[in-house]
Amino acid sequence: TREWHFMQRPVGLPGPETFKLVERDLPPLQEGQCLVKNLVLSVDPYMRPRMDAGPSYVPPFELGEALTGSAVGEVVETRSDVPLGSWLVHQAGWREHAVVDAGAARVVDKGRYPSSHYLGVLGGPAFAAYVGLFHIADFRRGDSVFVSGAAGAVGSMVGQFALLAGAKRVVGSAGSSEKVRYLVDELGYDAAFDYKTGPVLEQLRGAFPEGLDVYFDNVGSDHLAAAIDVLNDFGRAAICGTISTYNAVEPHAVPVDAVKVVTKRLRLQGFIAFDHEDLRKDFDSEVGAWLEAGRLMSPETISRGIESVPAAFTGMLTGTNTGKAIVRLAED
Ligand code: NDP
Repeated sequence: TREWHFMQRPVGLPGPETFKLVERDLPPLQEGQCLVKNLVLSVDPYMRPRMDAGPSYVPPFELGEALTGSAVGEVVETRSDVPLGSWLVHQAGWREHAVVDAGAARVVDKGRYPSSHYLGVLGGPAFAAYVGLFHIADFRRGDSVFVSGAAGAVGSMVGQFALLAGAKRVVGSAGSSEKVRYLVDELGYDAAFDYKTGPVLEQLRGAFPEGLDVYFDNVGSDHLAAAIDVLNDFGRAAICGTISTYNAVEPHAVPVDAVKVVTKRLRLQGFIAFDHEDLRKDFDSEVGAWLEAGRLMSPETISRGIESVPAAFTGMLTGTNTGKAIVRLAED
């Protein structure tokens, strides 16, 4: 089988020297393990900070080892209680086949939805959107919401969840006019703007003449600074990620105006979705029902073949994706 190895810590955007496709034999199955054939692989922003040395909330990738990430695989051999043919969501992505511990993987409904949905609308990004919006930012019906990175995997869910849950106004920012159009015309955002065409602060003030109650931050930096300026008294911000810093070569300082945080009694809270497994059941039932009822769009940008994984990853980091960036290796 083939898998992508991590060869060199990147400075800035990863390049071809960062990755190597390696052919290897798989070890025999131990009791409790399955052999899976991966159908779809996820490429995610958090993988980029894992390529830097030094501690974070997950350990860095090790040089010379296979990269990891979430994937949906079909069980093609089993020495566990997971039956042959089942679909497993597991962490041995970036490869064609993998031996996985059944206990560390999650069995999902086979064939009910495309396997890619378990990496997007029914997977990690939508769960982060759900946790951040409803739990961390404490969204309430009638709130005005701003989400950055709005056309991405997490952002596209945040805006739709807010609209479905009765937001007064939902506005998103994204990096192209096509994405801006997509947010308004397809996902139903009230407005959107391209952060590359002018200062975020000016565009955000224009979008929220009556101020903003909830900010869902996927980007950091000038987006966060602008949101602090425009948030209403008692506004809440869920800080989900800071993608504007992940490939930064220069040290980055996020200018937070603490005076405004105090005088407006703002609450800014970072979070990591996997700390909130207690919300998984609510997520499954609420988001599952929206999806089942056809009320939720699940945009995906799909590349094909194991060779395309690095390009899909760096493309996602630079914005070639709308919705969840996915690599498909085999048909469902
Ligand atoms: P996306 O699908 O949103 O893909 C990344 C997007 O980031 C690109 O499409 C690009 O869109 C945008 N981007 C790239 N560079 C910049 C920049 N300098 N400024 C603004 N936007 C930029 O990824 P995800 O939805 O998977 O992740 C979104 C965020 O959520 C990330 O920060 C990620 O780390 C975080 N996250 C956090 C989790 C948690 O538990 N806290 C869980 C999952 C994700 P564009 O064309 O608009 O620039």
